[in-house]
Amino acid sequence: MSNIEYRPEIDGPVYEALAEFLPVRVFDSHIHTGLPQHIVALSDERKKSKLGFFLDVALEFGCNAYEIAQEVRTTLFPEQMMEGLYFGFPFRETDLDANNAYVAGLIEDHGVQGLYMPRPDSTRDELEHALDAGFIGFKPYLDLVTDKSFAEMRLADYVPPALWEVTNDRGAILLIHLGRPGRLYDRYDIEDLSGACRRHPAAKVIMAHIGRPYIPSMIRDGIPEPYKALPNLWFDVCPICESGVLEVAIREVGPQRLLFATDSPVTYMRGRLGEWNGDRKFFSDMDFPWNTEREPAEKETRYTFFVYEQLLGLKKAAHATRLSSGDVEDILYNNAKALTSEAG
Ligand SMILES: [Zn+2]
Repeated sequence: MSNIEYRPEIDGPVYEALAEFLPVRVFDSHIHTGLPQHIVALSDERKKSKLGFFLDVALEFGCNAYEIAQEVRTTLFPEQMMEGLYFGFPFRETDLDANNAYVAGLIEDHGVQGLYMPRPDSTRDELEHALDAGFIGFKPYLDLVTDKSFAEMRLADYVPPALWEVTNDRGAILLIHLGRPGRLYDRYDIEDLSGACRRHPAAKVIMAHIGRPYIPSMIRDGIPEPYKALPNLWFDVCPICESGVLEVAIREVGPQRLLFATDSPVTYMRGRLGEWNGDRKFFSDMDFPWNTEREPAEKETRYTFFVYEQLLGLKKAAHATRLSSGDVEDILYNNAKALTSEAG
């Protein structure tokens, strides 16, 4: 059902190396979920784009419907108890109402934690209603703004004042993906996000992907001081595989503000996120339209799961920074558990 095939000769030794590192309980704070019928057909152009490819991969894994997510967890992490923070696919091709309703159903039926995907023009009423219905926060996204490119967009275009106010009033979670060209060091994002976090101190803000420094050269100057100074800002680490990046994050903000996350289902692929000609690249053995520059076949056949590569990177970074097992448990479970328990 999930398209996931466990290959004991390749994946077995990797899981063994991870099993000695992983705590019994793991919390994944970034899981996309939905049903294939929530997504309308993608154009070929979108399938190749840096953004649309995500939906194309998701469709390959049945949009990570809840049952698929559970099946993958039991296959990949047979000894761990997994909890998670779920939300839909905040893209233009998604039927947001249906996808949000699906997540509401998971909250109701399975007791999971969930985030609501607002539109840029969602009203206060709609946002409050979502929290009343059991969502513990929001997952806005730049792709839902249709009249500007990512490079032209400011934070307020996709995280408007009403969203900040409701989040702050209710002590909810706001999971923010920064998309500007400067990545972690974009001066407009630093100004906009740190200002908004300070004005809304009860909002629990998670910066997705640590602000997108996917390879070490993208985090050369550490975490910007204005972000480090914010007591209501956390960082999720998906889908970073490079231990050098995670090492810097651990040293700069400490293990109490980092949240383990997978960005499933994209990390169900075999491969990893790594460096290629000085830029970041998703290595994959699958025939997607965007997957044009590939490693030799003999290398691809040895790829293990992307999510295993993430955890190997984290294990290496934890070792290099001499984290205690308690620190590791904080990143992999306690921080997200506490944050989600107190939210909404
Ligand atoms: Zn995501």
